[in-house]
Amino acid sequence: MDRRLPVSPATPLIDRFGRQITYLRLSVTDRCDLRCVYCMKARPEFLPKADLLTLEELTLVCDAFISRGVTKIRLTGGEPLVRKDVITVIETLGTRIGPAGLDELCLTTNATQLPKYADRIAAAGIRRVNISLDTLEPDVYRRLTRGGDVNVALTGIAAAKRAGLKVKINAVAMAGVNETHLPGLIAWAHGEGHDVSLIEVMPVGEIGADRSAQFLSLENVRAALARQWSLTDLPDNTGGPARYARIAETGGRLGFISPLTGNFCDTCNRVRVTCTGELYTCLGKSGRIDLRQPLREGGRDALDDALDAAMASKPLGHDFDVSPGAAASVDRDMARTGG
Ligand code: SAM
Ligand code: SF4
Repeated sequence: MDRRLPVSPATPLIDRFGRQITYLRLSVTDRCDLRCVYCMKARPEFLPKADLLTLEELTLVCDAFISRGVTKIRLTGGEPLVRKDVITVIETLGTRIGPAGLDELCLTTNATQLPKYADRIAAAGIRRVNISLDTLEPDVYRRLTRGGDVNVALTGIAAAKRAGLKVKINAVAMAGVNETHLPGLIAWAHGEGHDVSLIEVMPVGEIGADRSAQFLSLENVRAALARQWSLTDLPDNTGGPARYARIAETGGRLGFISPLTGNFCDTCNRVRVTCTGELYTCLGKSGRIDLRQPLREGGRDALDDALDAAMASKPLGHDFDVSPGAAASVDRDMARTGG
């Protein structure tokens, strides 16, 4: 039985500041097969499985957003590909690409499961994957991910390329950890034909460490890269926190995702939904609207009301703080919210 919510010419999602929401990032699980030091504690307490939206509910939430004008959905986590049978959600959402409403379905992954899934993901209609890889150095990767094997990630990245997926490498820049490896990582990725985005550490969730020790300003990273390469700014059209430059010597694109030192909130077009159905209208704020109860008890009208309430409460911008001793700006893990 097709339990899709009815598609009506519903009102688009526009917040109090006139920003239209066209982009949904959906975390499908808080679980992961890695334990990156900036993302989770060494021994995270994962949510009880009963708290998670079912695969069918994840699809219903996506359909509600699509009918309100969302044209891009990114599945994330946790590691989205460790959720059992998540491929069925990917394949179902793939059918919403095109006249059914979606321009694009994307995925953010650590690549470990891509040898298994890359072909099916591509066949489902996904064209682009963001892959997290902070270093090519096996020892540093193992330390950063608390036990991961960089060769597994590299095999996954190769599988994605073979499947015809456009790969973007995301690397979190960390002071004293991978900063000296970034030029090598960028040169390798550009040589493989992959774009790269560098990300500033964000104070999201408690990780059992002081963030200020991890924080590395991308302004400084860019200045260091500019001493060895020629960077030319490219026009930004993502509506997001990334600013792009072309590196003449490698020919590749390099993005700088700077939620702390950059200013992108004015053009924000996105919201996030956690794997338990909490809608966060801003990555840097704790305010949330529950979608699970309306979904389970009220049906489509109640879900629409919840989306309207979210539009009425989306803040103008975040106020992250990574100064020494500052607490996490928001009381939840990146893996629950979806990075
Ligand atoms: N497991 C998948 C992965 O690693 O790509 C998807 C989820 S992960 C939470 C999404 C992205 O968030 C990754 O690129 C990761 O590097 C980034 N991330 C996690 N915690 C972060 C933090 N505290 N600051 C900045 N980026 C973070
Ligand atoms: Fe897992 Fe991604 Fe978080 Fe790393 S960043 S621990 S791969 S969810």
